[in-house]
Amino acid sequence: MSLRIYNTLTGEKEIFEPIVPGKVGIYLCGPTVYKPAHLGHAVGPIIFDAIKRYLTFKGYRVTWVVNVTDVEDKLMAEAARLGTSVPKLARELEQKYVESMHALGVRTIDHMPRASEHIPEIITQIQQLIAKGHAYAVEGDVYFDVTRDSDYGKLSNRKPEEQFAGTREGLVQGNKRNPGDFAVWKAAKPEEPDDVKYDSPWGKGRPGWHIECSAMSMKLLGETFDIHGGGLDLKFPHHENEIGQAECATGKPFCKIWMHHGLTRFNTKKISKSDPEFEKVMSSLQLSNLLKAHPPELLRFLIVQSHYRSPIDFSDDALQAAKTGISTFYRLFERLERTTGADPYTATDGVEKLSDQPTNPAIAAVRDSILNSRLRFLEAMDDDFNTAGAIGVLFDIAGQINKFLDAARLETKPDEPARITAQAAGASLITLGRLLGLFLEKQAKPALADDGRTGKLVELLIDVRKMARTAKQFAISDHIRDNLGTIGIVLEDSQDGTRWRVE
Ligand SMILES: [Zn+2]
Repeated sequence: MSLRIYNTLTGEKEIFEPIVPGKVGIYLCGPTVYKPAHLGHAVGPIIFDAIKRYLTFKGYRVTWVVNVTDVEDKLMAEAARLGTSVPKLARELEQKYVESMHALGVRTIDHMPRASEHIPEIITQIQQLIAKGHAYAVEGDVYFDVTRDSDYGKLSNRKPEEQFAGTREGLVQGNKRNPGDFAVWKAAKPEEPDDVKYDSPWGKGRPGWHIECSAMSMKLLGETFDIHGGGLDLKFPHHENEIGQAECATGKPFCKIWMHHGLTRFNTKKISKSDPEFEKVMSSLQLSNLLKAHPPELLRFLIVQSHYRSPIDFSDDALQAAKTGISTFYRLFERLERTTGADPYTATDGVEKLSDQPTNPAIAAVRDSILNSRLRFLEAMDDDFNTAGAIGVLFDIAGQINKFLDAARLETKPDEPARITAQAAGASLITLGRLLGLFLEKQAKPALADDGRTGKLVELLIDVRKMARTAKQFAISDHIRDNLGTIGIVLEDSQDGTRWRVE
């Protein structure tokens, strides 16, 4: 099946055909580094990291760019408030952002261009716009004239005259010819620090935010490229303006497909700014603090288990549900390691490598059903990167493997063909998960602080529970299980006895 992607520009799912066969260029609007990132800033990178992994798996050579906006009004205000310089604050926050992305498994970005290092390209694009009559300079500022771009509004379906009608922006026109015009270059003000004043043909100043993205994306990916992504909140005006600038400067289409991801909804109990808890709650949502409080893979799982165009609800309940979900896989991987003697994280050959004629019907059945699920996984991903559907298939596969292990009882009954099949099935599951950026590394197992005796005490309690059950003293056996559960020691009964684990 061919890959289909929902294009915001056309409002339709389109069959994906790259501009240059075999190659894909992707640009994702990155962070403005003026405040510590929160979970919402990780959504785009996590989604596009999965998209890049999947496109690479399909055989494309993908170049993925995420910009860093390090020249911007909010950044100047924040640096002034903190008594630091713009470049110092920007580098510090960029470094933290990069570290957080790495922890979250976002490791496939090819370029992270900084706006401050692309001033000549930005100036060239502004000059092209002025030469073609699409932009005008007034007292050191340069504005894009929306009325001279007949296509303006095609992404957001808004007409220029509707853009700011009745709004504050509509009234504050200043030097602009039309209320919808926006700055591509801003004249420096005397009170502004020297390190954000760049020389230009219009005097000292700095670029507008929108032109930074048009200039950097075209420099790294060409005048027309395949996919431009960003949060839904960027569709207007940011992306609309990027299209206007780029297409008016080159006379060519800017990019083929626009992908917009849903936004994060934080369940902060409608906390108001005056609430004494406000700062504490907001700080707990910062990415660096979330990553201290939760395993990074849990946060990634929470994001990819929704379809990218849906909103992402973030709350304690959602985190708990994601934790329950992902531990299904961790428990299976542990079980596979225990029963097959091989670490599934290092296995490479999946069930597709097994012989076509397995002698045992149970082996043939699990292999066929996993091969079938694998196809459903790929179909889900081909359908506009439906990661939610793909994760549903991963749960199905985990269920199939658990059922196979229940029947094979490898703990007590050595069976080499079944062992190899279980190992290959685990490898298939991990390989598919990795296309979403999951299961990249083995997770550290929670353990008891143990001097060698604690584990033995748990075994003793399991023994006592078994004796209670044999004597039909179920109240006692349940009491032992439930109370161990409340301190994070979970008992699991199976045909081959009771196992325990720490959660
Ligand atoms: Zn952008």
